[in-house]
Amino acid sequence: MAIKDNISRIRESIAKASIDSGRKPEDITLVAASKTKPATYIKEAIAAGVDAVGENRVQEMMEKNAEGAYEGVPLHFIGHLQSNKVNKVVGICDLIESVSSKSLLSQIGKRAESLGITQDVLIEINIGKEPQKSGILPEETEEILEYASQLTGINVHGFMTIPPFFVENERNCYYFDIMFKLFVDMSAKKYDNVSVRLLSMGMSDTYIDAIRFGSNMVRVGSAIFGER
Ligand SMILES: *Cc1c(COP(=O)(O)O)cnc(C)c1O
Repeated sequence: MAIKDNISRIRESIAKASIDSGRKPEDITLVAASKTKPATYIKEAIAAGVDAVGENRVQEMMEKNAEGAYEGVPLHFIGHLQSNKVNKVVGICDLIESVSSKSLLSQIGKRAESLGITQDVLIEINIGKEPQKSGILPEETEEILEYASQLTGINVHGFMTIPPFFVENERNCYYFDIMFKLFVDMSAKKYDNVSVRLLSMGMSDTYIDAIRFGSNMVRVGSAIFGER
């Protein structure tokens, strides 16, 4: 198993892409997407220096958390979050990346308030407007940020997106580009509880291009851990 080697190769690519796009390697957060992978693999990835770990399924996350799988790094929730699971992730995850509706945002805020904490979140944007994907439509972004400014218990730090995937790089880059433009537009606006500074975009097959187009957080699974 070559998790450590995979991570050093990925770090080199991240460094190159960040410098090419006028930033520093340390400006990019590498999140290990660890769904289906056991705690032993995750600990190896943490030892090799990933910045955070991202999980998709609440039950699986709770089991691995009980094994101490995420010790030493922030834990992100990156999967589809059902409202009946909100109580299980708020306060456990450092960052909920996949907030895909106003009602979810408000439920997270309520739960956080009852725990006496503020939950850090990203808003998931359905940049390709794909009917089968969750997330806010790009044209609804301002509305949800405005809504966030009226809530308590949450801090919105930016956006996460899973754009449509194409084999041809140019077609992926089209969506990275429009997502980055939306991110820049929203960064300039002022809302309470909102500071748009994180753009979580790019996975194993696309993270290099995503960084070139302005992503500063990449979620990488199979390129670290091997195929699922
Ligand atoms: C699985 C997953 C990833 C990582 O995908 P890879 O192609 O294995 O890198 C990233 N983001 C989300 C939301 C995922 O579910």
